[in-house]
Amino acid sequence: PLPAPDAAAQVRGDDRAHVFHSWSAQALIDPLPVAAGEGSTFWDYDGNAYLDFSSQLVNLNLGHQHPDLIAAIQQQAGRLATIQPAVANDVRGELARLISEVAPDGLEKVFFTNGGAEANEYAVRMARQVTGRRKVLSMYRSYHGSTSTAISLTGDPRRWANEVSDAGAVRFFGPYLYRSPFHSTTLAEESQRALEHLEQTILLEGPATIAAIIIETVVGTNGVLVPPPGYLQGVRELCDRHGIVYIADEVMVGFGRLGEWFGIDAYDGRPDLITFAKGINSGYVPLGGVVISDAIAGRFDKTPFPGGLTYSGHPLACAAGVATFEVFRRDGILERVRDLGERVVEPTLRGWVDKHPSVGEVRGRGLFWAVELVRDRETREPLVPFNASGADAAPMGAFTAAAKEGGVWPFTHFNRMHVAPPLVISETDLVRGLAVLDDALSVADGYVT
Ligand code: PLP
Repeated sequence: PLPAPDAAAQVRGDDRAHVFHSWSAQALIDPLPVAAGEGSTFWDYDGNAYLDFSSQLVNLNLGHQHPDLIAAIQQQAGRLATIQPAVANDVRGELARLISEVAPDGLEKVFFTNGGAEANEYAVRMARQVTGRRKVLSMYRSYHGSTSTAISLTGDPRRWANEVSDAGAVRFFGPYLYRSPFHSTTLAEESQRALEHLEQTILLEGPATIAAIIIETVVGTNGVLVPPPGYLQGVRELCDRHGIVYIADEVMVGFGRLGEWFGIDAYDGRPDLITFAKGINSGYVPLGGVVISDAIAGRFDKTPFPGGLTYSGHPLACAAGVATFEVFRRDGILERVRDLGERVVEPTLRGWVDKHPSVGEVRGRGLFWAVELVRDRETREPLVPFNASGADAAPMGAFTAAAKEGGVWPFTHFNRMHVAPPLVISETDLVRGLAVLDDALSVADGYVT
């Protein structure tokens, strides 16, 4: 049934009066009241449809209202809606087994959390416990979550207002050839120089003070930065040489975004801890976790692990996770992500480089791509300044408005637009959405100098 005519006003009124929103100046926002969602589309109360090229917060891998996930949650709710973490539970154990079966060899155990930030929080705690060291190295261009350790490890401006002095966070530059901090001109050079810089950072900080290095396998919100060949392998070697724990943050890329179970499967280098959330069950019930190497898990065989959460391994969340595995396997989700990425998204985006003067670079893998928008292709001046807000961000605002006008909900961050639709998107919708973004890029072209 269609919502009552005044329903949107009620939703907006309650929201404005009582919901305190993330990352926002509360009086300056006007959140869209959303009435419904199905597959890759959601609707507002006026019946406007939005094709979701952002998968909400890059978590809705299996789309809205997937019947298998809904049925799994409903059945589990009918059987046992909740149970505390100290007991053994069937779906919790089954999901942990399924995850360990697709994880790299030697990572057999899973600690469940409620989301991505907590997963990183616990991974860091494990690393500190087993090394007896405190510092953690992370990239400037990174996001690891908003709890106190995770936001301190985050590189991007979201950490600025949140830093706590005892976090032990040390930041370094990761590889990013388009804006190379190392003045490299080839991927091989960028990889090698980024590793030299990381090694220098380790040596100058004192290897014996560093518990962990945390790296998004493909950096997500900060630019879909794909690691150059050899880089992650080099990180592994540096960690081995100095007894440092390598944490792969796969909260955004794990479970299908790159056409792999874990992003690391597409690259070299094996982490000691892998953190995940989002794609594990598309966010139908909050869930995240840490996949743990045998060596680290073994350290807590006779010594208790000092940490826990009331909802660790919540049965409703785990049931949705088990169903996710079934859907991925039955419907060949990983294969279709690779196919659509290579056959449809990549050639279309590469075509935009020739067609749109505002497109500086496109990069990505699977169904995870960034389009970097510039004012000037020669100088690579970004379309809007780093961390732009207000009037400075107007060109990106105009682009976003044009995309929404065309019925596509895009993901934008600073001067970038990311293409990250649900992994179940039909080819027809994918092509249609890309055409809308293509048109909207003409608006960005208008700002080219
Ligand atoms: N790590 C990465 C790479 C992320 O992209 C995010 C969220 O976007 C997080 C961690 C934090 O996850 P959550 O918001 O579930 O706490």
